[in-house]
Amino acid sequence: MIFKVFKKEELARLHELLAVNIMVGPVARGNDRNGKPLYDFEVVSDFAELALDYTQTVHSPKRFVLPYRETLSTFTLNPNGWEKQVDLNVRHPLVFFGMHACDINALNKLDLVLAKSTYPNPYYLGKRKNLFILGLSCNPEPQCFCRSMGTDSASHGFDLFLTDLGGKYFAEILSATAFDLLSQISCQEPSSKDHTLYKHLTNEKSKRYTTSVDTSDLTKILDLEFASKAWDYWGEKCLSCGTCANVCPTCYCYGVEEQIDLDLRHAGKTRSLHSCNLIDFAKVAGGHNFRPESATRLKYRYYHKHRGFVEAFEEPLCVGCGRCGAACLADITPPEVIASVRGKM
Ligand code: SF4
Ligand code: SF4
Repeated sequence: MIFKVFKKEELARLHELLAVNIMVGPVARGNDRNGKPLYDFEVVSDFAELALDYTQTVHSPKRFVLPYRETLSTFTLNPNGWEKQVDLNVRHPLVFFGMHACDINALNKLDLVLAKSTYPNPYYLGKRKNLFILGLSCNPEPQCFCRSMGTDSASHGFDLFLTDLGGKYFAEILSATAFDLLSQISCQEPSSKDHTLYKHLTNEKSKRYTTSVDTSDLTKILDLEFASKAWDYWGEKCLSCGTCANVCPTCYCYGVEEQIDLDLRHAGKTRSLHSCNLIDFAKVAGGHNFRPESATRLKYRYYHKHRGFVEAFEEPLCVGCGRCGAACLADITPPEVIASVRGKM
């Protein structure tokens, strides 16, 4: 990895160089009912619109590579039969400006399934390969437990990662594009003082986490506690609304629908992101529902993230961003659910 430092004033110039592309970044979106500022990722062209000191966005940036709803194919009946059209919906390079480490790690996890598996998803892959990612250091929020999940820093999956050193940024460069861009602004080699400051700030950040999750032997504990009463307790609270999957940066389960126009000459296939907490998630043809109770559906979500995915990829499908707990109307949070299953509550 190559390191550089540059003065904060240079960031606007860097933005200008990247703004020839479509850019997605954090913007302020009013306040919640307690007056706490809300942020979200939006397409943004003006540097002044970016809220680079954002805490955490309500939704993850996932929807820009994995849209909530996407047309997979359309069909038209012509004299020779049905003609199929496929549009991977990859138009322009996209810049993510100011992603935190947890969201970069979330994309790395999605890659394992959607880009690097035996059957990659071409719709995702096309968008993913067309990304430039500029990461930005963050300050832990009370709901963040990314440190427990090992995702509080990113070592790959970005082009450029900036850590705020006060008057300047410490830049980690991972791609030739990022290196070329930095050669167009005024930047320097980091001094030993910069190294010391970087290490000091990293150490200080790690002390500011107030929420943690004990993940040791969690896959075994989940196997042991499959029939735990804790699942019924949380299942009774759960509203089966699916909000947790909606805001989660790593949930990727989906359903596919086929529509045929009334003239029987046009048809289409659409993929929509789904949530395993929704009542019809495990309903099959004939009407049988394999998980009719909210407790079994909620349990499934935890088993997928902290057991099944670990078995397949040797890492959990959760980056500890805490979004699901913050958005849940029933106050169900992963740290509390996992602690109760471990018998710590
Ligand atoms: S855990 Fe919370 S957010 Fe998720 S489905 Fe249940 S009530 Fe909704
Ligand atoms: S499960 Fe919750 S804490 Fe984990 S990545 Fe998804 S939203 Fe974040």
